[in-house]
Amino acid sequence: GPPGGPGSPERIRIFLRLRPVGRQTGRVVLGATEEPPWVEFNVPRNPAEGLINNSRESYRFAFDGLLPPDAQQEEVFERVALPVLRSALDGYNGTVFAFGQTGSGKTFTITGGAERYADRGLIPRALSALFAEAAKRSNHTYTVHISYMEIYNEMGFDLLSPDREVQALEDLPKVHIMEDEDSRMHYRGLTLHRCDNEEQALNMLFLGDTNRVVAETPLNQASSRSHCVFTLHIEVRRAGEPVVRRSKLHFVDLAGSERAGKTGLAAHAQLKEAKYINLSLHFLEQVICSLQEGRAHVPYRNSILTMVLRDSLGGNTRTVMVAAVAPEAQHIEESISTCRFAQRVA
Ligand code: ADP
Ligand code: MG
Repeated sequence: GPPGGPGSPERIRIFLRLRPVGRQTGRVVLGATEEPPWVEFNVPRNPAEGLINNSRESYRFAFDGLLPPDAQQEEVFERVALPVLRSALDGYNGTVFAFGQTGSGKTFTITGGAERYADRGLIPRALSALFAEAAKRSNHTYTVHISYMEIYNEMGFDLLSPDREVQALEDLPKVHIMEDEDSRMHYRGLTLHRCDNEEQALNMLFLGDTNRVVAETPLNQASSRSHCVFTLHIEVRRAGEPVVRRSKLHFVDLAGSERAGKTGLAAHAQLKEAKYINLSLHFLEQVICSLQEGRAHVPYRNSILTMVLRDSLGGNTRTVMVAAVAPEAQHIEESISTCRFAQRVA
């Protein structure tokens, strides 16, 4: 059914995902319960382990859902993305975000891990479900296009350019976005690729991810410093009806939210990246909060990301965010900051 009621925007749903404890592990400083879903951070007594100069002993945050370290990718898909995909098949726009510091599991959530088939993330599972569901709806005709772009330092790049030798991000075609008088967005340089089945769609994901990785230099892990937006453009026509319904479903792997230069000296380029990331996350928060509060003016135009997402946040759309958190003591400050962001946009 349609998300939200008339005039009341659907509230953004926020899941907390805890990634499993890493190999070189520190002490785990959080506890979580699923019913009701919340997470609690216990501030370490020894300041060298985590928080410095802190008077509080614990922090507790509530969420719409908790995805514990042992949550399987299929469960994550069913709880987080499947409802949004079903709405998109009915003609409603939607957005699925992953937010959090680098290393917290955003890419694992959105795209998946490469080692095991069971580690496939939300995008490949959504592609599979999309074509399976479309085939079942025999009185509907679906047409699907895919686009995939990367936003780095407020520049958009097309990740689906098959005819280029990509060695650096700059080798990818630039994407320009303009708004006309009717507030419609126009893209220049972003290719849309028609996909008639799951295999073609997966090939697009694979091509984009390859370009994303190849464009990365060893010095500069571009993909964790940029936003990646994978978009399904869906058209549906019901048998005997002339109208075509269009919807968009975005999967957004946001840039790492950590503060740069927190420890040691950060290079000039890294400070510049950090400035762009902080700004665009700030603008994203502003837009989401303006929509949640039903304000008349929503400041979309401040960043590429919010322009890209403008018709897929708020209003008659479904938005889900996965706040990804690393469980170890040394990450407690970033984890608390991730949860705070999540509470502000909730
Ligand atoms: P991010 O994209 O936020 O920087 P990644 O998704 O790359 O983080 O995750 C960091 C590492 O942890 C990767 O090696 C990834 O495979 C692993 N990882 C993350 N989440 C999980 C999980 N739920 N189960 C198993 N491994 C995970
Ligand atoms: Mg990543």
